[in-house]
Amino acid sequence: MTAPIPSLTRALMFAAQKHTDQRRKGERAEPYVNHLIDVVDTLARHTDGADVDLLMAGALHDTIEDTETKYEELKREFGENVADIVRECTDDKSLPKAERKRLQAENAPHKSERARMVKIADKTSNLRSILDSPPPDWDNARKLEYFDWSKSVVDGCRGINAGLEREFDDLHKKGTAKFTPKVA
Ligand code: ZN
Repeated sequence: MTAPIPSLTRALMFAAQKHTDQRRKGERAEPYVNHLIDVVDTLARHTDGADVDLLMAGALHDTIEDTETKYEELKREFGENVADIVRECTDDKSLPKAERKRLQAENAPHKSERARMVKIADKTSNLRSILDSPPPDWDNARKLEYFDWSKSVVDGCRGINAGLEREFDDLHKKGTAKFTPKVA
């Protein structure tokens, strides 16, 4: 077995190269890799870094969905276990966006424990991004809608890691308070 740290750094390097030309949607247009490192960091903090396949899948979670990467390539490079987790976290891009979003929430409870943890860390990172560097063309209603949809996905992933869920819930609460219209 390859040592855990070189396995993880190799997955991060692979993901960084695959996403090189992509930026995040926020006002600062952060490099995409910031999001991937945030997901790995979030998973590592809540698991003490004990499961390197989980962290590698965190680094690679958007490669099939958002780059030209194929499942077979991930399997060859990082093994079947990591490739399977990434595939579980991948939407079917042949479907319309609204349908993909609906299916994410509907399918979440049927995913493996590791895929559900990656999903929670992904949504946690996305909420953090919207709070720290909001997409300039999103009004509060759209931010709220995203926060609530994310919660519906996370609700289907619960029961594995309380600390990870709590981090998501704290951000969800913060954003909901911030973006909900104030009643006079
Ligand atoms: Zn992601």
